[in-house]
Amino acid sequence: MIRLPRLLDRRLLVGLLALATLAFSAPLHGQSAGDLHATIDELAAAVNDQVVEWRRDFHANPELGLQEVRTAGVVADHLRSLGIEVTTEVAQTGVVGVLRGGRPGPVVALRADMDGLPVTELADVPFASKVRAQWQGREVGVMHACGHDNHVAILMGVASILAEMREDLPGTVKFLFQPAEEGPGGAAPMIEAGVMENPTVDAVFGLHVFPAPLGTIMYRPGGMLASSDGLRIVVRGVQTHGAQPWRGVDPIVAAANVVVGLQSVVSRQVDLTDSPAIVTVGSIEGGNRGNIIPDTVVMVGTIRTLNPDTRDLVHERVTRLAENVAAAHGAEAEVSISRGYPVTVNDPALTQRMAPSLERIVGAGAVVMPPVTGAEDFSYFAQEAPGLFIGLGVAPEDPSLVHPNHSPYFYADERALPIGVRALASLAVDFLTATPAAAPDWLR
Ligand SMILES: [Zn+2]
Ligand SMILES: [Zn+2]
Repeated sequence: MIRLPRLLDRRLLVGLLALATLAFSAPLHGQSAGDLHATIDELAAAVNDQVVEWRRDFHANPELGLQEVRTAGVVADHLRSLGIEVTTEVAQTGVVGVLRGGRPGPVVALRADMDGLPVTELADVPFASKVRAQWQGREVGVMHACGHDNHVAILMGVASILAEMREDLPGTVKFLFQPAEEGPGGAAPMIEAGVMENPTVDAVFGLHVFPAPLGTIMYRPGGMLASSDGLRIVVRGVQTHGAQPWRGVDPIVAAANVVVGLQSVVSRQVDLTDSPAIVTVGSIEGGNRGNIIPDTVVMVGTIRTLNPDTRDLVHERVTRLAENVAAAHGAEAEVSISRGYPVTVNDPALTQRMAPSLERIVGAGAVVMPPVTGAEDFSYFAQEAPGLFIGLGVAPEDPSLVHPNHSPYFYADERALPIGVRALASLAVDFLTATPAAAPDWLR
């Protein structure tokens, strides 16, 4: 082997690799991007009846988080029938499929969440769920009230299409069917199980249905969905008679001032031109009768942010404010913040690059959406590789049928399904065909 200085050696290799990937990155069989898109659209039309059938079946048979055994079984059987390598029981009930294209290239991951919610369905559809299950020691109805049935059916349809196009794909597609998005979370344990490695994922895409105009596709560069962190503040004073407050330390007045003071964290200390944030106290408890000043008040709440830096700042300022306001009253505040799902950040460069793929599907129906203060554990995947999460509008035309996710009346118009299928399939194909093969791991 010729001995070159190490830096030159690496540069030369990277250059050669780039040349090689350029030379080989055009699709095989003379298929242009337009041909591939036409193929995606034809195959999406062909698989649509099946996608609708799968979605109705999942809707009628929802399963709670980490209990998605039937759903995972249907998914795994379908992937195997397509000749996709399948691993089951990933993070308990997750399913991972690996589809290797006809030529080497980058690796793209597509994610769907499979869990339903403890909600008794009231939507008037022939395939409404009648399922009941035990949840936190109670019997509850189970419903796909967040629309994850659509996500699973869409990704199964995408698998059918991409398996059919396998020979034309330069690279690898990973299908990530995760459990328990609604809690306790399936993305993080799947990552711990290694799903973003071997081969290393270069980009990850996901989709969520929202009650937005039918067939629109929504996305946003940067923070799209919020981080969701639990807040708990215990204010400790000294118990005394309600008629002699000077003999103790009143934690109720201190806690009341903490609640009022917390309003100034977002309004006075966060750069609102950069990203919004929310601090909510949702419960406050202390004392048991009118003539006793208690020794303790417990407050719990939630903190939402749309930027990882803002998240850290708000945590620090909430803690500082609560501790110092309590101290000003001679009381003590113990603040604990439990970090939940991180901010779902769409990689700005990837978002910009993929926007034309979405515009091809829905034209002006591809819209940049305002941020959502709900949270998603897709965020963990997007911390491991550049990610893009998109919203799919599934609102029926009749406004009386439009209800938010998690409502017992949540209703997704199935005419949006083929748009979701074409969008995810196009994101995968366009990413693979326009991305030079990644450098081998030792070169990174
Ligand atoms: Zn949900
Ligand atoms: Zn959801």
